[in-house]
Amino acid sequence: MARDHDLYDLIVLGVGGVGSAALYAAARRGWRVLGIEQFGVAHDRGSSHGQTRIIRAAYYEHPNYVPLAKSAFGEWARIEREAGERLFRAAGLLQVGKRDSELMEGVRRSAREHGLNVDALTAAEIEARWPYFQVTDEYSGLFEPGAGYLRVEQCVAHLTKLAKKAGAELLTNTTVERWLPLDSGAIEVRTSDDEVIRTRRLVVTAGPWSQNFTNSMQLDLQVVRKQQQWFQMDRHEIHEANGGCCFLFDTPQGCFYGFPQIDHLGMKVAEHSGGQATEAAEALKRGIDASDLERCQSFVNEWFRCGKIRLVHHSVCMYTMSPDQHFVIDRWPGLHNVAFAAGLSGHGFKFVPVLGKHLVELVDGQENSEFDFLKLNRFERQSDGTSV
Ligand SMILES: Cc1cc2nc3c(=O)[nH]c(=O)nc-3n(C[C@H](O)[C@H](O)[C@H](O)COP(=O)(O)OP(=O)(O)OC[C@H]3O[C@@H](n4cnc5c(N)ncnc54)[C@H](O)[C@@H]3O)c2cc1C
Repeated sequence: MARDHDLYDLIVLGVGGVGSAALYAAARRGWRVLGIEQFGVAHDRGSSHGQTRIIRAAYYEHPNYVPLAKSAFGEWARIEREAGERLFRAAGLLQVGKRDSELMEGVRRSAREHGLNVDALTAAEIEARWPYFQVTDEYSGLFEPGAGYLRVEQCVAHLTKLAKKAGAELLTNTTVERWLPLDSGAIEVRTSDDEVIRTRRLVVTAGPWSQNFTNSMQLDLQVVRKQQQWFQMDRHEIHEANGGCCFLFDTPQGCFYGFPQIDHLGMKVAEHSGGQATEAAEALKRGIDASDLERCQSFVNEWFRCGKIRLVHHSVCMYTMSPDQHFVIDRWPGLHNVAFAAGLSGHGFKFVPVLGKHLVELVDGQENSEFDFLKLNRFERQSDGTSV
């Protein structure tokens, strides 16, 4: 069955984090745009759920992300104004590690190269400011006061709502089975309802389902199960209202992060490192995994002064890891009117407004050298010994 009102300017395949932002960016341009999402809006089965996401600018992964992070802060502020709701809270982010660790060197380098406000703290200074942390002298901290967290589900819901307000159409509970370029240059998209829809341009933002479409690309993506848990503890200082901050600790056992308590659920803690690879996003185990829980409990017991902790909630999510843990954002090989974002490697949410906008620019023929380091062809270069 073909839609009679033919030819959209753009179809967005997958309306999760990045897809909702792309939908909004295209609708703001006045494009006739359709988003197709296999579940509902702001659902809990992909990579964009679980209450909160850290947003930070002093990027330890690579200083090239800093200009994108700066733009993201501005974009979120604009989206908040348009949505009429607070989505970002500047709770600050404390990063703790050994002085010469990759994490600490990386944060310092980004802060230095981009003139970012980051405070260096000794273990004693950390404990004096946040008495619930327990840090030995061989560790130190870097505190980014302007960092904080985003309310992840509300962000996706508002981006989708704003896109619809600006004229975007949305098909939910509809899976894109396949898409193909036509001789005319248009793209044909076939859905699970056997509907055939044509569009001038396509943006593929399928998150952990990306491999269903990127198989021809020789892009090795690995989907990893991630468990987030919320703990109650007897320390009122961990509440955001009492000065509790976001945190990221690089420990010998792994890299753990968390958020201040923001509501009745308690403090959210999760492990950034590791995770179990899962063959297919559909096969994800959603029950609590005892060994993941135990790792996070051990982290809290070692690095917090908080007495007994009680698990009150958990949620399971997915990272889609690229081979070098940097995003892959580019035009589809051989097609000027198709672009994709994949392999956000567990750190993409903060950037979704800038990624969505960039994808729309790409299918509109525009270039932006700030994103060059995220292009697909770096993997060819890497086989020659160069890297991002
Ligand atoms: C536990 C956890 C903690 C994280 N913490 C942070 C953090 O603190 N800071 C940060 O910046 N990032 C963080 N991230 C990473 C960030 O959340 C992700 O990088 C980002 O949300 C990914 O967005 P996405 O649009 O790629 O994927 P998704 O939001 O999953 O969107 C993909 C969408 O495509 C849809 N879809 C797929 N295939 C089809 C199809 N065939 N037809 C129709 N629809 C389809 C899916 O249903 C889904 O809605 C975290 C991730 C996890 C899992």
